[in-house]
Amino acid sequence: MKLIEHFVNGKIIPGSSDKKGKVYNPATGEQESEVRLASKSDLNGAVEIAKKAFETWSIKPALQRARIIFKFKELIEKNSDELTKLIVSEHGKVYEDARGSLTRGLEVVEFACGIPHLLKGEFSENVGTNVDSWSIRQPLGVVAGITPFNFPAMVPMWMFPIAIACGNTFILKPSEKDPSCAIRLAELLSEAGLPEGVFNVINGDKEAVDAILENKDIKAVSFVGSTPIAKYIYENSAKNEKRVQALGGAKNHLVVMPDCDLDGAVNGLMGAAYGSAGERCMAQSVAVAVGDIGDQLVSRLSKKAEALKVGPGMDKASEMGPLVTKEHLEKVTSYVDLGVKEGAKLVVDGRGLKLQGYENGFYIGGCLFDHVNKDMRIYKEEIFGPVLSVVRVKTFEDAAKLINDHEYGNGVSIYTRDGDAGRTFASKIQVGMVGINVPIPVPMAFHSFGGWKRSLFGDSGMHGMEGIKFYTKLKTVTSRWPSGVRSNAEFVMPTMK
Ligand code: NAD
Repeated sequence: MKLIEHFVNGKIIPGSSDKKGKVYNPATGEQESEVRLASKSDLNGAVEIAKKAFETWSIKPALQRARIIFKFKELIEKNSDELTKLIVSEHGKVYEDARGSLTRGLEVVEFACGIPHLLKGEFSENVGTNVDSWSIRQPLGVVAGITPFNFPAMVPMWMFPIAIACGNTFILKPSEKDPSCAIRLAELLSEAGLPEGVFNVINGDKEAVDAILENKDIKAVSFVGSTPIAKYIYENSAKNEKRVQALGGAKNHLVVMPDCDLDGAVNGLMGAAYGSAGERCMAQSVAVAVGDIGDQLVSRLSKKAEALKVGPGMDKASEMGPLVTKEHLEKVTSYVDLGVKEGAKLVVDGRGLKLQGYENGFYIGGCLFDHVNKDMRIYKEEIFGPVLSVVRVKTFEDAAKLINDHEYGNGVSIYTRDGDAGRTFASKIQVGMVGINVPIPVPMAFHSFGGWKRSLFGDSGMHGMEGIKFYTKLKTVTSRWPSGVRSNAEFVMPTMK
């Protein structure tokens, strides 16, 4: 059986631990490979190498770093089919969706190509007589990324292109459920000319994560995953004096106003709720039907949800693939069982789906609940599967209150033709990423990605200028060149004269 190892110092290396994880093809349910799970000493060894590499990488002119990133961009484009197939084979999502996610990652690489411009500091001449002041941003050192299973290329690419373009060296700990893509990206970075030790991949589980949190030479941690682990990463990074951004789970609402283009809203909801089998942190898992739109909305949604084409990700006819693992399939199914027990109306039931020729695959059909209320666990908790809940409310204000009261605040959308409703919504809603007649408002690479409330712990989002700030520290220099006259020592707080 294929064994997926670590990538350190420019090459694949065997780890010291005998611990291994299983990697499945979700479409068939078969185990395809094993992944080595790192020990603490494996992680610490990689950090030593990254620390050494930082000495030369961090002082390379930004333009030279940008040229390597540019070459990497070309290699991703050249190898996009292979990378996409790797995503499909271990995650299960459909090919075109996987390809789209790779493109969204590539856009961050494109953004990072502008690093000489992005790192330009500020300069003030004559802040005092013959005194100049300027600020620059310098890299932190060795930084780490810990990433979830649902975007094995895109989420790591939210982090490392900017981190290394800024002059840091990087340790990536990808999800142990779909680790192959990270290794391939590391190989492409080497092919692009990235010096050894600048980008390293350590595969592993909690042991590797804890080793990252404890290692004093790791200066910053970027995390994306579920909320309980995000909180753990946030607390322990802070305790160990690291800079941290920890993005967590979500429960995203799409508000359907009575005046909206209903076909647009229904199509938007179908893609946003069932795309990638709902395994997206920006999936819209709650439709909020305002006023009297509920019956029409549920009737149109149910027809489409019943007609969803579920199948292997490599089948061009599939609109939705399987879930990532058997355990995750069981978890999602148990949430559907729970919704029925809690009294919600299960309008479309996707449970127990068996596909001919793929009987062991981790499939579930699209599920649709109506009459869900705010006290039900299926409303409060993140299911992370193709389960859409419709909550009916009387007014726009009720919809906004429902959303603002929720513990998560990642993404949200409103479908309306009323400009005032759209504008008020964008201004008042307590959520980090807002769509108006846009179903999945994921910001582009040159803006920043990040939720509010328990969807993000830390102060900065991913990529865009937030990414540049996160991966650099500010230094401000105040300077005077003596022009022959030496001043006497001053013992009072200096003020500029
Ligand atoms: P997860 O939290 O289980 O795992 C994420 C990472 O943490 C993995 O690398 C994993 O190995 C590690 N990890 C898991 N358990 C750990 C533990 N006990 N101690 C230390 N490390 C641990 O998340 P997942 O199931 O891989 O991904 C799905 C979750 O990620 C969902 O909640 C989803 O909403 C979230 N997500 C959020 C965003 C966002 O931008 N906010 C984006 C993508 C995914």
